[in-house]
Amino acid sequence: MLSACAQEHQSPSVEFQGTPSPIYRNSKEIPEEFYWTVGAKEQARGFYSSQGSLVSPSQFLMKGKGYLKLRPQNQDGYGTHDLVRLVQWAAEAVAAIYPQGEPLRVGSASRRQGGRFPPHSSHQNGLDVDLGYYLLSGRQKSLGVLSLNTYSFGESMVKTNNVVSKNLDLERTWVFFKLVVSSTRVSRIFVSPTIRKAFFRYSKQDLFTSLEEKEEVLRRLRPEPGHNTHFHLRLDCPPRSPSCVDEQAP
Ligand SMILES: [Zn+2]
Repeated sequence: MLSACAQEHQSPSVEFQGTPSPIYRNSKEIPEEFYWTVGAKEQARGFYSSQGSLVSPSQFLMKGKGYLKLRPQNQDGYGTHDLVRLVQWAAEAVAAIYPQGEPLRVGSASRRQGGRFPPHSSHQNGLDVDLGYYLLSGRQKSLGVLSLNTYSFGESMVKTNNVVSKNLDLERTWVFFKLVVSSTRVSRIFVSPTIRKAFFRYSKQDLFTSLEEKEEVLRRLRPEPGHNTHFHLRLDCPPRSPSCVDEQAP
């Protein structure tokens, strides 16, 4: 069950550029004003995992409201404006709802000009980013307490025998998922198969969200091994990137 605190704040008061629009089945139907502001020269090109590149990208800060960037040199913190802005907005909103919580941990997005980025197969065109699951142990760690001079997300959220870690903060992570999906810009969120099942179960306890809205989130949760410590957020191609290659909707 969501805490009373979360219930009161189902619609965070944090402002963001763009309008939280109704649910659209096909993001191409959305009027352009619903999109996040896009840099004039910005381009996401090619596909997520082949021949992808990035022009005039935005960059995650090392520390923003509600998030911290892993990897101190931050050469992997580039993405399209809407990716960076959406994550910043949702992280800030989660921090406003749970002010005692630790910040979202932002891992790799893309390189400055995109392109191949081993060991990732995708992360090529500025529309992918790895994000740490929120941790229950982090609930009491307020913003700024953590210093993340690290490369790693650390603790696995899947224990032996495919048991989900008790430290996985399903509530805060679910709120983050709902927020980003409400933008209508999310293509997929890759999570471990075990954790995906946990979110399907958890969603049934969320009585404050419509079935339709839950379905919009759940169908984007794609089971993908290798996501025990973090999830992977992927956006659809932005407008004004005509050579960006979209995936079919999940
Ligand atoms: Zn990834």
